[in-house]
Amino acid sequence: MGNDTAERTGADSIDQIAIEDLPSRAWDFIIVGAGPAGSVAAMELSRMGHSVMLVDRHWFPRTKICGDCLTPGAMRILQRLELYDVARKEGFHCSSMSIFSPAHIRIDVPGDYLTVRREILDQLLVRKALDMGVTFVRATAEDLEERAGQKVRVRFREGDAGHVARCCLLATGGGLSLARKAGIMTHSVASGAAVRCYVRSKLPLDRLVVACEPSVLPGYAWIFPVGTNLFNVGCGRFMYGHGESHINLHRIFRTFLEEFPLAREMMAQGKVETPLKGAVLRSGWQQAGPIAHGPCLGLGEMIGTTSPYTGEGIGKAMQSGVLAARLGHRCLLTGDMSTLHRYPTYLRQLGGLRYEGFKRTRKWFRRPWLVDFLARRINHSPYLYDAFASILQEKSDPAQVFSCRGVWRSLWR
Ligand SMILES: Cc1cc2nc3c(=O)[nH]c(=O)nc-3n(C[C@H](O)[C@H](O)[C@H](O)COP(=O)(O)OP(=O)(O)OC[C@H]3O[C@@H](n4cnc5c(N)ncnc54)[C@H](O)[C@@H]3O)c2cc1C
Repeated sequence: MGNDTAERTGADSIDQIAIEDLPSRAWDFIIVGAGPAGSVAAMELSRMGHSVMLVDRHWFPRTKICGDCLTPGAMRILQRLELYDVARKEGFHCSSMSIFSPAHIRIDVPGDYLTVRREILDQLLVRKALDMGVTFVRATAEDLEERAGQKVRVRFREGDAGHVARCCLLATGGGLSLARKAGIMTHSVASGAAVRCYVRSKLPLDRLVVACEPSVLPGYAWIFPVGTNLFNVGCGRFMYGHGESHINLHRIFRTFLEEFPLAREMMAQGKVETPLKGAVLRSGWQQAGPIAHGPCLGLGEMIGTTSPYTGEGIGKAMQSGVLAARLGHRCLLTGDMSTLHRYPTYLRQLGGLRYEGFKRTRKWFRRPWLVDFLARRINHSPYLYDAFASILQEKSDPAQVFSCRGVWRSLWR
């Protein structure tokens, strides 16, 4: 679990200061966690004229366990941040995605798909934040202390006194210990877990592949090209409660490599380049309990912004960064920190997540025969095919497809 590197890597490193070298001063915002959620919030706040300290426990660039695939929502934000062109140059572009049902019925969905390795993407985001005046620091935040509801002191493992800010944003990803200390998060059950590794192979594949193998359901495995002859390969499972914490994803992944024809072909022409590593996924923010507490907000994966259907969370993490920044700015502008309690209302703007529809979808994924049946219907019904394609484009509610009504309509459309 966790990230692959914690050491400073030299040549590629960016302007990140050790906390011990940072003179003490008061900040408008301290943002803990420089993943997509934290970096985007930092950029937005700095653009609005605030002093911002962005802090991460790793020296950058650092790797992050991820499938590296950007959803249309993520691409839209990158466009807004004027980072899309450079991300596309650094990443791998595909114009089709193939989804395989348990019985290997294939659905091809043309589209604009982009993969960017996370050490590259997250570095691009942090660089942009630095360009906008953010101070980027290396330190591990360990504790928070509210000061009369108007300020917060963040303590770090390195150094003693900590740093004070008018508002603190927590964007620590899957890790909840800091959130719990801040009293932000009460819902601690992960909604899924996933593993991935990189495979170097001569397999001529220029599309994204998603496989709903029987051994992986309820969940899916993927083969995503991320560069010439390089693939991000992994699998993830939905979890429905504490009872499923025993799932052995390493074994499921091995079965996938042995049983899925394209994976077998890929392995016959190549080899695994990095160890298989995993992390939890957190979805369903509406169950997260109080998400605004004192002058402190949680954002990104930490509060469960990741899609419970696809496991994709980069775009939603960035969107939550924008929303938290907007609200934080408003509070500091008016001096009324109680406005932070409107955060849940702000987050509802992430309605594009359509969590309820997604949750229903997960039930369908428990039955291989149902997924096969649906795959056949999608290939036969233009109505269902279009609806399915528009879910992948994050334009419609999954309940349109994964519902009795959806299947019923597909019988004559
Ligand atoms: C195997 C796997 C595959 C996935 N594939 C995809 C995909 O293809 N597409 C997609 O969109 N999403 C994918 N996801 C989900 C995606 O990775 C997350 O939703 C996304 O990274 C969340 O962003 P974030 O900014 O909230 O958190 P993160 O990206 O996790 O960033 C959190 C940051 O906080 C730092 N941090 C943590 N604790 C502290 C602390 N105490 N002090 C200082 N710093 C701290 C960490 O070092 C890290 O840099 C995948 C997840 C997994 C596990």
